[in-house]
Amino acid sequence: MIHALPRRHFVAASAALALPGCATTTARTPASCLMPVKAAPDRVIRTMAGLRPYRASGFVVRAEALGTKRLVHNYGHGGSGITLSWGTSKLAADMGLAGHSGPVAVIGAGVVGLSTARLVQEAGFPVTVYAKALPPDTTSNIAGGQFHPFGLFKPDAVTPEWRRQFTAALDYSWRRFQIMVGDDYGVRWLTTYSEGTPEEPKLPTFPPAAHALRPGEHPFPVENLWQYDTLYVETGRYLRQMMRDIESAGGRIAVKSFAAPAEIAALPETLVFNCTGLGARDLFGDQELMPIRGQLAILIPQPEVRYAFTGDAGYMFPRADGIVIGGSYERNEWVAEPQPERIARIVAAHQRLFAGFRCPA
Ligand SMILES: Cc1cc2nc3c(=O)[nH]c(=O)nc-3n(C[C@H](O)[C@H](O)[C@H](O)COP(=O)(O)OP(=O)(O)OC[C@H]3O[C@@H](n4cnc5c(N)ncnc54)[C@H](O)[C@@H]3O)c2cc1C
Repeated sequence: MIHALPRRHFVAASAALALPGCATTTARTPASCLMPVKAAPDRVIRTMAGLRPYRASGFVVRAEALGTKRLVHNYGHGGSGITLSWGTSKLAADMGLAGHSGPVAVIGAGVVGLSTARLVQEAGFPVTVYAKALPPDTTSNIAGGQFHPFGLFKPDAVTPEWRRQFTAALDYSWRRFQIMVGDDYGVRWLTTYSEGTPEEPKLPTFPPAAHALRPGEHPFPVENLWQYDTLYVETGRYLRQMMRDIESAGGRIAVKSFAAPAEIAALPETLVFNCTGLGARDLFGDQELMPIRGQLAILIPQPEVRYAFTGDAGYMFPRADGIVIGGSYERNEWVAEPQPERIARIVAAHQRLFAGFRCPA
């Protein structure tokens, strides 16, 4: 994790370490001296596109009857499925497990299904995860992995009850991810520099250490900038570990596609969690669900880059498996394939951003 330090502290610290200019990469590197990302077309190592499962009225966590079974929905997380995964799954698990006995089915092996399955196991129930596709072939694997609730609802379309669910889910997730920091899950803290002015707190503890920066305090070529600390998830590593956790606790993961609720009704389990993401649109006829496509370019890893950025140029999250750059939000685009022209724009925008880096002397 890196922190901004008062300027006089920075001069003393860098003199003591005898490291020149921007070359420092210590945990206490101040914002005024950050390592730039080497964004360039020839540093792109792969590209990806995914469809965020968006609903204007927010995610769905709700129980209903399906024949003789209890069905609990947990889908529609838009651009915040990693962020809210533990939280909405906790709400769903509490809703479904009350009064239940016997094995449980979870449909979907993205971050939401896997989190739900773990919570079901932690509550003492046997679980089977059924999914059409497993990691690494889920939307969750494409996510950049920033913990920040963003792009998941339209403010005038949600109810006060939904807002209560949202706050409870965010709070549980925030605390749960904090106790998963480490290389096994690929979760770590990073200071994040965000263009604009500090946003309203979403929780008393989120976003922590948020404050505006003055122009001389940072190297970014932007007019307004603020910073805060948050968690980042290396999604590939995280989902792999979550699958291992489920299996080592005795859970089963099976590849199975469902074309209609009647096929779910035929499962042996009497409690079923629907964690199918965008798949819920066809499976349960939720026409409010729509894709918001996001495209990413992954650059050669730069372990010395230990901060994240979000702003007009897009976003940059440094991970062990590459520097993730993105920033496209394409409504109602159903083709989950990177578009070369859009990828080129993402790379060029980051190239301009980092070429404009100026480390104050
Ligand atoms: C480019 C991009 C960047 C993102 N960045 C972030 C970020 O930084 N932070 C963040 O919090 N979120 C981010 N997101 C959003 C996040 O990826 C999603 O909200 C999240 O992945 C949704 O998880 P899920 O488990 O609901 O869906 P999925 O990961 O899509 O999983 C759904 C599962 O259900 C299965 N399924 C679907 N239909 C059926 C069926 N009929 N029968 C059987 N199985 C079925 C699928 O095979 C899959 O296993 C990003 C998304 C994109 C595209």
